[in-house]
Amino acid sequence: MLTVGTFPIAMVMHQPQQRRQVFLALSIEMAGLFAAVLVTVSYSLLLARHTGSVLTIWVPNGVVVGALLSVPRRKWPHYLAAGFLSFLAGRVLGHGGLLGNGVAVSLALGLCNGVEILIVATVVRHGFPRIAKDTRFLLLGRIALGSTLVACVASSLLAATVQRAANGLPFWTTTDWWFRSHLLGMVIVATLTLVALLQRRRMLGQPGRRLLLLRDVTVLTLVTVGVFAQSRYPLLFVVFGPLLYVVFQHRFPGLVFGIAIIALVTSVATALGAGPFQLIVPATPAHQAMLAQIFLGVLCITALPVALALADRRRLARRVTESESRYRLLADYASDLVMRIARDGTRRYVSPSVKDMLGWDVREFLDYRPELIHPEDRERVATAVQELWNSGKPSLTQYRLQRRSGDYIWIEALVRMAPSPDRPGEMELIYTGRDITEAMEAEQALADSEKRLRTITDNVPAVIAHIDANERYTFVNGYVREVAGQAPEDMIGKTVQEIRGHVLYVTLKPHIERALRGESDTFEYEAEYGGRHRYFQTTYLPATTGNGQPSGFYALTTEITRIKQAEQQLSYLAHYDVLTGIANRRFFSEGINIAMRHASIANSPLLVMLIDIDHFKHINDTYGHATGDAVLLEIASRLKASIRKTDLLARLGGDEFVVLCDDIASHEIAETLAEKITRAMDTSIIVGPHVLKVTLSVGAALCRDAGSVDALMQRADEALYRAKERGRACYELSVTGV
Ligand code: GH3
Ligand code: MG
Repeated sequence: MLTVGTFPIAMVMHQPQQRRQVFLALSIEMAGLFAAVLVTVSYSLLLARHTGSVLTIWVPNGVVVGALLSVPRRKWPHYLAAGFLSFLAGRVLGHGGLLGNGVAVSLALGLCNGVEILIVATVVRHGFPRIAKDTRFLLLGRIALGSTLVACVASSLLAATVQRAANGLPFWTTTDWWFRSHLLGMVIVATLTLVALLQRRRMLGQPGRRLLLLRDVTVLTLVTVGVFAQSRYPLLFVVFGPLLYVVFQHRFPGLVFGIAIIALVTSVATALGAGPFQLIVPATPAHQAMLAQIFLGVLCITALPVALALADRRRLARRVTESESRYRLLADYASDLVMRIARDGTRRYVSPSVKDMLGWDVREFLDYRPELIHPEDRERVATAVQELWNSGKPSLTQYRLQRRSGDYIWIEALVRMAPSPDRPGEMELIYTGRDITEAMEAEQALADSEKRLRTITDNVPAVIAHIDANERYTFVNGYVREVAGQAPEDMIGKTVQEIRGHVLYVTLKPHIERALRGESDTFEYEAEYGGRHRYFQTTYLPATTGNGQPSGFYALTTEITRIKQAEQQLSYLAHYDVLTGIANRRFFSEGINIAMRHASIANSPLLVMLIDIDHFKHINDTYGHATGDAVLLEIASRLKASIRKTDLLARLGGDEFVVLCDDIASHEIAETLAEKITRAMDTSIIVGPHVLKVTLSVGAALCRDAGSVDALMQRADEALYRAKERGRACYELSVTGV
């Protein structure tokens, strides 16, 4: 029983009915091959008998190789077996029976043919496991021819050995005719068989062209028969024209039918002693057969490359079409607008995305329509296109294009120049445009918001700046002009040290370091700007990027010079007497408290001298309050001159003054001081036209460890009272613990 053999097929074909079908199909194929080989063997041998045992063309091997190459390798043993049996049967028919040692010779020659067949079939199958539309036919042709040469040399040497041993035929003569007839048969018939089996139904031509195929093959047949029906003129060349025409028009079917018919006519006519080869006198039938072989070989070598090249061209054209349709598919389905634009502006291709993007139909968009470009962008786009045509360099342009609905969208177009795929020698523009309206609007919104922010910050009466981690300004608002007279743009990129100067930088440095460590900081500092001493308050706020990474710090600086001055003014008013400019009661109170603490720690004495103008009321009443004020001012000035810088002089109110001294070691020194003060009034005071004799009463208290400020003041007060009692213009000293 015949088995299908390979494992996977056996697995699939497990049902008896399917197995039967496979077996039936294989049997039919084998029967077909058997018949074809039988006919061709008989035909070749019968022809050979006519030409004196010289073969013109050995057909059967080509039939078997063509058949093997058109089926899977697993069928090869069956095909080879069918071919071998058929070969033996053909020899019986061709020779009219197997004579003498004929059986052994036939078997041996059958093996020689088998070797030849296997070499060609194996090499071609190895190089081309599958022969189909996309096969590289020219390469296939070269490999097939190479393997055929090798196979025919091998089989002819084997056959010549057999013939010499069996029939005593001369070795090289047998080699010669075997090689030629087998080479020709293999080249022509294997090709034709393979093509016929692969093309199958298409062998009859495409449905619409069958009549044309029939017509052209008929013309070729008539021309060939005409050439070989006469023996007077060497008209062999006439056959080439119609053959090449048939091949060119009908490709492989044309080749198969054309070569088959010419080979049939040539071999039959030559065997029957007809045709142009008879013109060669004195050519033997063997010579004529050889010439017929050369003629057919040349025909085949001429026509086959034409068919192979046409098939190759078709394969390449198919690949180009496929890749083109792939790219076309990309363009068709791209959301970007893709166009091919000719020099005159007309579009050779517009992708369907134009509908989604702009609302236009492809047909509406094929003409050059510059009016759709926004009027403000038209000139810019025209210049860019002109430049592109001139330089050939790709251009990227952003412009507005009108939609069918009338509104505009922003397009970013990348345009490059490329050779036209369908107009050789012409260049065209490949345009890819994408809708960037959203991005443009976002950009615009960002610019607007930045402008708004800039307007606000520029009008804030404070310097707002951002300083990066390298201590360089990245942003400064316009107010810096008011403060420092610097343009913000001149500051960007420069360091704090470069802008504020080294001296101020030393002050700012610790605060900068703190801010860069991520700590907020507010501080005040003084600086000279525009020749003025000014005060500033600055807040440093650590800055972070959108994803939380530190990015320097913000600095908010306000000028506080006026506040500082008001503060100082207030402090002055709080501590100094407005009329005389010396310390007031509050200042004195603070001063005596501090001095008291120091004195008690050091256990040193303190001297307090209360000074009251005698009969001051009288001066006021007599000369007026203004004169009284002038007298108070003069007295303050004389008291200031009478004491040392380290002593504290204050006006306690009305006409009462006080002097505090913290380093008086003895009562003598205290008395000297009191004396000096009362003496200060020896000279009259001149106020305008008035010469006033003014005296002072002084109550002094020199105490070590008085216990409290009040106790000390109490003692001084009592002393003053005593001085007044004593008649004024004198001093009284109370001494305790010294
Ligand atoms: P006595 O010798 O007892 O001290 O007599 P006196 O007139 O000086 O009396 P007393 O010290 O009690 O009076 C102080 C006067 O000083 C009362 C007030 O009118 C006057 N006086 C107080 N403050 C001012 C001032 O700022 N300017 C002027 N011109 N007079 C003042
Ligand atoms: Mg007084």
